[in-house]
Amino acid sequence: MSSHDANAAPESCPDDPQATGWLSRASAAPQSQLDDAANAKSLEALWRALQASVRSRIQPGQFETWFRRAALLHADDGVVRIALQDKFSRGWLESHYREVIEIAAKEVFGSPRRAEFLVDPEAVARPLASAAESRSEAPDAAAPAPAVPAVDVGLLFASDLGLNPKYTFDNFVVGPCNRFAWAAAVGTAEAPGKAYNPFFLHGSVGLGKTHLLQSLCFALLARDPKTRILYLSCETFVNHFINALEDGDLQKFRHKYRNVDVIVVDDIHLLANKERTQEEFFHTFNALHQMGKQIVLSSDSPPRDIPTLQERLVSRFKWGLVTEIEPPCYETRMAILKRKSRERGREVPDDVARLLAERIDSNIRELEGAVTKLLSYANLSDRPVTAELAREALRDLFAARQGQPSMEDILNVVTERFGVKLSELQSKRRTNTIAYPRQIAMYLARQITRHSLEEIGGFFGGRDHSTVIYAVEKIAQLASENAECRQALDALLGKLKVPPA
Ligand code: ADP
Ligand code: MG
Repeated sequence: MSSHDANAAPESCPDDPQATGWLSRASAAPQSQLDDAANAKSLEALWRALQASVRSRIQPGQFETWFRRAALLHADDGVVRIALQDKFSRGWLESHYREVIEIAAKEVFGSPRRAEFLVDPEAVARPLASAAESRSEAPDAAAPAPAVPAVDVGLLFASDLGLNPKYTFDNFVVGPCNRFAWAAAVGTAEAPGKAYNPFFLHGSVGLGKTHLLQSLCFALLARDPKTRILYLSCETFVNHFINALEDGDLQKFRHKYRNVDVIVVDDIHLLANKERTQEEFFHTFNALHQMGKQIVLSSDSPPRDIPTLQERLVSRFKWGLVTEIEPPCYETRMAILKRKSRERGREVPDDVARLLAERIDSNIRELEGAVTKLLSYANLSDRPVTAELAREALRDLFAARQGQPSMEDILNVVTERFGVKLSELQSKRRTNTIAYPRQIAMYLARQITRHSLEEIGGFFGGRDHSTVIYAVEKIAQLASENAECRQALDALLGKLKVPPA
């Protein structure tokens, strides 16, 4: 499997008419390539045969989308090596068309070939040059259609994130914690702009929000490859907007954001404290919604708990379907562990899976990290995957869990001591009777758990890291000058069985 990274910048932006230079690069093919024309021609002929065979096996739209902008680089030694325009296409072909290509290759070459994929936009552009050349030599010959992109496909160029080909509905383990969210995502992909608009997905970190959002994008593209999807992080929206303001070019910004079929914004809670961007997003939202375009949002808290979010945005975010993705239960954790290890080519025995599922109970990303670590440890040390090996490989993780109170413990003792409800700690309310215990809980979390600032913020209705820093500093200061605060902390630490500092 490729080391495709969802957050890596795409190597090229296939749909950016300015950025690609597709045609010009093709017509300026270097001399060495032209020298190699004979070889290239035979590869081209083979490629055409292979394309024809693939075409007969898949939908025409899929063929136009994925096989037009590709080139055959090598067809020897039991391998067919195919060049693609960008990482996104490579990932997609790898995970969806490898089998078809290998079947087609067997038909064309008469013996099995393994398909390999790489990103090489120049090579993809090359056949166009020779096609143009052969057309001018023999205008009446049945020259193949130039490999011009037939459809405007995939993510729009303004999308800042590539899609991770592993993030599909097929690879998503469904359990009671996420069944509703999953069904809503599937429903949205089946009837964009109709079923749930907006579709608002919230839940704490590492529970599969991004995975579901990307699955939705893949499903939309599979349903109609022409769908113009703008998939971005909230940060990108903010940055684009700020740039547009600086350049005095709001017109262009609006044009870009309003000419889409689907807009998907990951981590929309980051709009907190950004008034002008909220204002602009409000208008973007209205324009798209009015045109019946699908809006998909993810957040680490429900709309009403996003700090400082304008009331009119809160209410709009609730127009469609707001759904929560919850921490996985034990059985789901087991299923995920099994799936993740199988994906990595190795089974984890039941007793080991149970051990992990018991210890790692709140975050799927951590669960996945533990599988990766365990399996590479087993591979490197060339030992079977046993409970003993797991304890050894995941020593840090286990030690941290065993001795230390969890976030839940902290929330329990704090709510009990101050007589507040968990929902109040997580709400936006800032009256002192709630803000103070909230800050105490954040302070304790920072002192005794290994959660990051972001994660801690996540436990309190999706507050951002600066809020957590502020709380920690405030309580530290208070503890140094106020005996009552110090006593409260000591009592809480006592309950948590942590020796006072
Ligand atoms: P979030 O965006 O909510 O922080 P992600 O979508 O990034 O979380 O998920 C974290 C990791 O856990 C990803 O690698 C994702 O593939 C995996 N994951 C989360 N939920 C599931 C699931 N239900 N089935 C399989 N993998 C999952
Ligand atoms: Mg995410």
